[in-house]
Amino acid sequence: MTTYPSLCMIINGERIAGGGRRTHTVMNPATGEPIGELPLADPADLDRALEIAQEGFRIWRNAPAAQRAAVLQGAARLLLERQEDIARIATMEQGKPLAETRIEVMMNVGLFNFYAGECQRLYGRALVRPTGTRSTVMHEPVGVVAAFAPWNFPIGNPGRKFGAPIAAGCSVILKSAEETPASALAVLQCLLDAGLPSQVAQAVFGVPDEVSRHLLASPITRKLSFTGSTVVGKHLARLATQNMLRTTMELGGHGPVLVFDDADVTRVLDTMVPHKFRNAGQVCVSSTRFLVQERLFDAFSAGFAERAAAIRVGDGLAEGTQMGPMANPRRPEAMERLIGDATKQGARLLAGGERLGNQGYFYAPTVLADVPISSAIMNEEPFGPVAIINRFADEDEAVTEANRLPYGLAAYAWTADNKRQQRLAREIEAGMVGINTAMIAGADAPFGGVKWSGNGSEDGLEGVLACMITKAIHEG
Ligand code: NAD
Repeated sequence: MTTYPSLCMIINGERIAGGGRRTHTVMNPATGEPIGELPLADPADLDRALEIAQEGFRIWRNAPAAQRAAVLQGAARLLLERQEDIARIATMEQGKPLAETRIEVMMNVGLFNFYAGECQRLYGRALVRPTGTRSTVMHEPVGVVAAFAPWNFPIGNPGRKFGAPIAAGCSVILKSAEETPASALAVLQCLLDAGLPSQVAQAVFGVPDEVSRHLLASPITRKLSFTGSTVVGKHLARLATQNMLRTTMELGGHGPVLVFDDADVTRVLDTMVPHKFRNAGQVCVSSTRFLVQERLFDAFSAGFAERAAAIRVGDGLAEGTQMGPMANPRRPEAMERLIGDATKQGARLLAGGERLGNQGYFYAPTVLADVPISSAIMNEEPFGPVAIINRFADEDEAVTEANRLPYGLAAYAWTADNKRQQRLAREIEAGMVGINTAMIAGADAPFGGVKWSGNGSEDGLEGVLACMITKAIHEG
């Protein structure tokens, strides 16, 4: 039986807690009950983490690629061995069903193994030059990375934030979300137990604005890696400019899903309804605006509502739960505001639209149809279990609506027409486009957005290169 662990920060491999530090109470979102007390960093802790990370960079930039690969592979093996414990801890602090936290562990296993290979293939190139002279282009690790991960993928986000810098030869200080600290600590512990030098990766927690200001103001930090909302991302990007830091920013989205008349409705529903309600909709690449061509609209919206209403909502630890609670009390409050505003403006409520139970942060899988463009939910990322289903007449109208918002993270389209598939892939403004599939991520594929959804990529070769600088060396 897994019990929720005692919480700490990890600096130079030491577990740090107590000492009169402020704390944050971690809650179980299924019950609303406290499950742990997390120590928060004071400025001295952050200075120590920076100093250690600087040392870690000196060690790790010179480590042979084979050593980096061995650590990543070893951590992948340990994650697999510890999968059930880590998944349970993540469900306790974040709420999503165990089936999903188990998959998150596997995402990290896949990513660490992929990076283990990729970090041994980071070649430079030789330029064409006259005999006797030489010009080469090298990739070098950028330096100390300050990384900030949110609570929605408590295992997967820390995996990305640690994995790429470690593969590249950087050191990293991670501030994962204070709501879900134990999962991040478990991922770091796998890396340390696999032989990562203790100076290379640190985990701190704190008051987010204090930590980010402190780390980004330090001349030791060379890169900012952030996943979270666009509002906070813009704020951190401004702070990062002061020291001209490299940035990777994974921000919000408002995923359009274009469903054309020639699509197979059952297949779309079988794929996209579970996709919509995965992690109670708290996913940056979630499907949000379903844009359905007139002829399919009635069958699609009726089928969607029926399936949404049948989803089993409950404690993520319980057998058979398909959707857990939302991760924190802010989310059901946001749902009430956004769904209330939409129905007031004339949207039709086809399913859900209410909180569930009298404990925890549960909200019913919700379906809205014919939602006016002026409503807040058509413009703000809902980040919750709500699907919007609106209609369109032709391809131009659908693409215009898909591109209307300043977000451009993930987009999806369903159509049997091959030429249209190609046009949509080109015309839709997004970092990731799924055509007749919801699978838009994988260890080997760059993951990131355009416009207000951010810049840079995680995963894939691009994820490692984002932690590297290029240097041109000319020898006369
Ligand atoms: P939030 O914007 O306050 O926090 C999001 C994350 O950013 C949290 O992990 C938080 O600890 C961190 N954060 C906040 N202020 C920070 C600061 N000054 N410095 C460093 N980190 C900071 O929002 P929230 O209420 O936790 O989540 C709601 C919104 O966040 C959602 O509507 C969604 O748009 C966005 N979000 C996006 C992702 C994603 O994967 N892109 C994940 C979680 C949340």
